[in-house]
Amino acid sequence: MKRHVDVVVIGGGVIGQSIAYYLSKSRVVTTVIEQGRSGRKATQAAAGMLGVHTENDQEGTYYQFCQASRNMYASLSKELFSLSGIDIQLSTNGILEIATNEEQKQRLRAKQNAFEGLEWLDAEGIRKRTSALSQAVGGLYMRRDGHVEPLKVCEAFKQASLSMGGQLIENCQVGEIVHDHDVFHIQIDNDVISADHVVVAAGVKSGRWFEATGLMNPMVPTKGECFAIKPSIQSIQQTLFFHNLYLVPKRDGRYIIGATSYHDDSNSYTSTGGIFELMNHLLKLFPSFKQEELHSCWTGVRPGTKDGKPIIGEHPEIPHLYFATGHYRNGILLAPATGKLVSDMVLKRYVPSSIQRLFTPNRFRKEGITYADTRERTSGGGS
Ligand SMILES: Cc1cc2nc3c(=O)[nH]c(=O)nc-3n(C[C@H](O)[C@H](O)[C@H](O)COP(=O)(O)OP(=O)(O)OC[C@H]3O[C@@H](n4cnc5c(N)ncnc54)[C@H](O)[C@@H]3O)c2cc1C
Repeated sequence: MKRHVDVVVIGGGVIGQSIAYYLSKSRVVTTVIEQGRSGRKATQAAAGMLGVHTENDQEGTYYQFCQASRNMYASLSKELFSLSGIDIQLSTNGILEIATNEEQKQRLRAKQNAFEGLEWLDAEGIRKRTSALSQAVGGLYMRRDGHVEPLKVCEAFKQASLSMGGQLIENCQVGEIVHDHDVFHIQIDNDVISADHVVVAAGVKSGRWFEATGLMNPMVPTKGECFAIKPSIQSIQQTLFFHNLYLVPKRDGRYIIGATSYHDDSNSYTSTGGIFELMNHLLKLFPSFKQEELHSCWTGVRPGTKDGKPIIGEHPEIPHLYFATGHYRNGILLAPATGKLVSDMVLKRYVPSSIQRLFTPNRFRKEGITYADTRERTSGGGS
C-alpha cells in the first residue's frame, strides 16, 4: 500500500467508486477509504432507476447532466464487464410514468411538451403493456430511461478501478485531515496516509467536511424505505412510476417497490408503517399481488442537500479539496457523469462553466467568513 497517493477519495459508495474508476483510467493513483464495506450504505438501498424524465420537469443544465450520465451507461456496461466480469444489469426497457386521475394526466401532458421524444399512451395503450392495471387514465413512455443493479455498478467500478492500479481500504474510518504545504495528511485509524488531492464522497456523512473547512453543512438526510416481492409470473417488463410509488422489475424476478421519504431523518431501521403505506398503495393498483411472495424490505438514507442539487467541485479556498456528494435520489443515475466530472476537475481538463456554477460548493459559503478565519486545518473525526 502506497503511503502517498495522488488522490484519496473518502467514501466507497457508487459516487466514490465511480470517481476512483475514472481517475484510475487516467493513470492517477487513487485510494478509496471506506468506513464499512463498499456500497453498503445509500447505494445498496437504491432501486437503480435511471429516471432522467421522472426526475426533471424542464430542460436545463441539470437535465442535460442527467441525460449525459444515463447515456454513458450503454458503453460503460460493456467496459465494466470486460474489466471486472460484472454485469451491471442495464435495462433499457424504458420507464412508464402513469396518471391515475385528470390532474396527473395534465401534469404529464405538460411534461411531454417540455421534452423531446416522450410518447403519450392512452388508457388502452397502458393496459396493453401492463394488463393488471385498471386505474390508468394515461401515461408517458420514457423510452430511453431504464435501470441498473446499484450494488453491481458500485462493485464493477471498484473492481475495474482496482484492476487499473486503484487502491481500496475498507473498514477504516477517515478521521482528521491536515492540510500542510499543499499536501493533505489523512488520519485513518492508527495510521496516516498523504495525498495531493482529497475528494469527499462520504454521502450523507459528508457534512462534517464542509463545516470543518468553514462552509455551511448542506446535507439533508432523507430516509427511504423499499420492499421487494417475487411474483410467480413476471407480467411487468417496464419500470412503472406513479405519484406515490414505483415498481422496478429486476432481472432476477424481483419487483422492487419504493419508496417512502422522510426529510431530515437518518434513522436506518425499516418501519412497519412505512412498508404498510407502500403495500397499501401497491395493492390498490394491483390487487392480485396480495398472493405473491414478499421477498425483503430495507432502508437507506439519501444524501439530500439544502437546495436539492448535488455538490461537485473544488473548495472555494482550499485548492485540491473536492466535494462530490448530495446526489439525493439520483446517485445511481449520476454516478458515471460525476466520476468523469471529478476526474476532469482534478486533471484540470475543460469543464463547462454552466456545470461548474450549478454544482459549486461555493453555494454553501458562510456570509463574510473565510476558511482562514476559522482555522488552519480541515478536520472531521468521529462517526
Ligand atoms: C430507498 C432509496 C431508493 C433510491 N433509488 C434510487 C434510484 O432508483 N436511482 C438513483 O439514481 N438513485 C437512487 N437512490 C439514491 C442513491 O442511492 C444515492 O444518491 C447514492 O447511493 C449516493 O451514493 P454515495 O456514494 O454518495 O453515498 P453512499 O452510498 O452512502 O456512500 C458513501 C460512503 O461513504 C462512507 N463514509 C462515510 N463517512 C466516512 C468516513 N468518515 N470514512 C470513510 N468512509 C466514510 C459510507 O460508509 C458510505 O459507504 C435511492 C436511495 C434510497 C435510499
